[in-house]
Order: sequence, then C-alpha cells, then structure tokens
Amino acid sequence: MFRADLHCHTTCSDGTLTPEELLHRAKQEGLNGLSITDHDTVAAYKAAIPLAATLEILLGVGVEFSSILRDTSIHILGYDFDLESPAILTLCQRHKKRRQVRNQRILERLSRLSMLIHEEELLAVGKGTVGRPHIAEIMMKKGYVRTMKEAFDLYIGDGKPCFDPGEGISSEETIWIIHQGGGKAFIAHPHILKHQNKLKELLKLPFDGIECYYSRSLPGNESRFLRIAKEKGWLISGGSDFHGDIKAHVPLGCSWVDEACFHQIFQRL
Ligand code: AMP
Ligand code: FE
Ligand code: FE
Ligand code: ZN
Repeated sequence: MFRADLHCHTTCSDGTLTPEELLHRAKQEGLNGLSITDHDTVAAYKAAIPLAATLEILLGVGVEFSSILRDTSIHILGYDFDLESPAILTLCQRHKKRRQVRNQRILERLSRLSMLIHEEELLAVGKGTVGRPHIAEIMMKKGYVRTMKEAFDLYIGDGKPCFDPGEGISSEETIWIIHQGGGKAFIAHPHILKHQNKLKELLKLPFDGIECYYSRSLPGNESRFLRIAKEKGWLISGGSDFHGDIKAHVPLGCSWVDEACFHQIFQRL
C-alpha cells in the first residue's frame, strides 16, 4: 500500500536527522512518498532530491512557514512550489533575519533570569533555521531545566516570561507568497488551535488545503477536518510532524496520505 508522510523536519530546522538520514529512515519504514517541511527553509532539498531518486522515494517539495494571524501564531504548509522561486527564497531570508533578532531577545530575557546563553552557543547547535527547540536544548545541557517541556512550560513557550513572538509575517502574505511560487498553501495541524474563532477566520483565507491526518490528532478531529475540506473543495494532506529524537514519541510515517492524495498535491513531479 502506498504511503506518503507529508510533514517532517530535518537538521536544516529543528529535527535531529539530516536530510540523508531522514530519507534512509523513510526507506526503512517502507514509505513510498515524502515531503520535507522544515521550518522557514528549503535547504534540505539540495541533498534530498538526488538521494530520493536513488532510493526510489517520491519527494514532493514542501516547507512549513511560521505566520501571524492577528497575534496568533499559525503554521502554514507550502507544497509543490518552484524551489527556485525568488518569492519563496526571499521569504525564507526574511524569516532568517526575523529569527536572529527574536532569538537575541529571548536570550536577553533568559539572561535576566540568570540563565546565560551566548549567541555563539546557539549557532553551534542550530545549523539552519534556529529557534526555541535549540534554545531549550542548551537550557537542558546547562542544567537550567531538566526537560524540553519544562523549558517551554516555564520560560519560552508562547506567552511565558522569556517568550518573544518576533516580528511576524502575516498568514495572508504567506499564502500569497506560496501562490507566487506556484505552490499550494495548507493549514497545518488545525486541531491545535485553541479557539474556534481562529479556525473560522482561517477558513476565510485563500488556502488550497488542510492537514487532516496528524500524529497526535484524534480520529474525531480527522473526520471534522475531512468534512471541512469537502465543503471548501480543498485538498487533504497528512503527516507525522516527525522531529527525530527530540520528539521520540512521534515516529516517521505514523500519519500519511495515499497515492491519489499525493498526486493531487504534487503535480510538478
Ligand atoms: P519556534 O519555531 O522557534 O517558534 O519554535 C517552535 C517549535 O518548537 C515547534 O515547531 C515545535 O517543534 C517546538 N515546540 C513548540 N512547543 C513545544 C513544547 N511545548 N515542547 C516541546 N517542543 C515544542
Ligand atoms: Fe518544529
Ligand atoms: Fe508546526
Ligand atoms: Zn512541523
């Protein structure tokens, strides 16, 4: 049976496997298709494209952009865009700058609570898109917290004392840029939205699809989002949101889409 995992991360963002290791893992798991959706970068594709061909894994182009919809953080999956699109590459660069400023502010806030981390330490851990999971990792290493969860729950999670949202890029603009790059924009993990009103607002935006199958989503949610996709005439996506060891309870391929779904999304292949 054809299975494609359309949501996973590598060391190019906050995953723990390199793009090459991820593809070998996908082969081991018997996956036929994959999309690598690193946060705010497409750097994985340079190494991933030739290896996927060798391993005979269908690789669909993807990315997971952070965006802001009136003060709420919204993750948007972009699929099947042109990897050389200037619009997409410029957005990745904007995120890189946004994150540099934001990470500095978070480190500044942590230092006020006597948790000292130098920028160089952070850059030594994060090789591509650097964010809060990398900061949490150093907090653990230095003994400031015991677990990743503790770092987020007490200090750097949304709205916590050392959190900084950074200068946000709107959901509307993000969708527009994905479209400019010839791609399709999907609402990522809609079940984590705390307020129903936010989902309603999101459903008014010109998305092309919604992530219906997700590692920790309950079956009840799946049918709800499948119904929404049908009503809106949107495409359906799904994946594990695999991050490797830092989220060891989420294995690659634990959520997936079938062949028909895959080919509806990835028409450039
Ligand atoms: P950032 O992109 O810097 O805002 O960091 C967000 C990333 O941190 C998410 O994509 C998750 O991988 C991770 N994350 C968010 N919340 C938590 C949490 N409570 N515990 C562990 N990891 C988290
Ligand atoms: Fe992540
Ligand atoms: Fe996400
Ligand atoms: Zn993700």
